Amino acid sequence: MIGIKTREFLLEQSRHKCSICGTRFPLELTHITRKFEGGTDAADNIVVLCAVCHDWVDRINIPPHILSEVKKAWVDQAILGREHIIWWLSDKDRNTRLRTASVISQNSFAQWIEFISTKRTFDDELLRARAEIQALKSEDELIHYVLRPIFEFLAFEGITVLHHSGAPEHGKDMVFYQRDNLNTFIFYAVIACNTKIHTTSSKTSDSGHYNKIIDQVSKCYLEPWRDNNLKREAYIDKAIVVTSSTIVDVAMMYFRRWEEKERRHLVFLDGERLASLLVQLRLGKERENVF
Ligand SMILES: [Zn+2]
Repeated sequence: MIGIKTREFLLEQSRHKCSICGTRFPLELTHITRKFEGGTDAADNIVVLCAVCHDWVDRINIPPHILSEVKKAWVDQAILGREHIIWWLSDKDRNTRLRTASVISQNSFAQWIEFISTKRTFDDELLRARAEIQALKSEDELIHYVLRPIFEFLAFEGITVLHHSGAPEHGKDMVFYQRDNLNTFIFYAVIACNTKIHTTSSKTSDSGHYNKIIDQVSKCYLEPWRDNNLKREAYIDKAIVVTSSTIVDVAMMYFRRWEEKERRHLVFLDGERLASLLVQLRLGKERENVF
């Protein structure tokens, strides 16, 4: 256990930034000598890294002496440790070994290396992703440029875009599935909206109105879905409500009431969450189960 005092000290010492790439968020405490190799929780055995760098440091097993140098350079001289990592990777033998190691997804590994060598940070990427999401002009763009890549990254299968496809849509903009541990299929439907979700507009055509969204959500559970990949019919298990913007508090309260009444659980993804998922995808972070 790393105590709160030690944690605060380390974050302060690291200027609240990742010692490799300079990102501010999300930061994690990383053991320099791994615990299973006898490392302790003492402050001098910990380096502050962002979640993405931490992930890679563990996956490619960067040795303790390199991590020590990374920490020293950043703490003592305010020089980010990326040069040390790139130098360590420049060893041809090591690189060949890494590249043939099956644990590494070559594509995402290359993305991380590019990320630390071009001196971009998670923060820069997040700003860029937010701007891209704000600039989306339609639900179509949201679905094709943001949602589809994100759900592919999250390893959902059978991704089908139904947006504006007419009859079979029944409120669904996208459908896909995932197999759980028991190999049971869980079907998801996405209700996507390129505006803020609110409760105040008088325009009935407004796609961001809570009533319109809840109407779509209800419909998507009612009609069975005919899946062309699996050649079978299935009912939707979970609806995912997506907005490229935000969901106002009152609308959120209504959603919660609806969930209680219908005994269903909705998943919500707003613009901020989408931006963070886009960055994780681009930086090759190992995917987590967001739902
Ligand atoms: Zn980092």
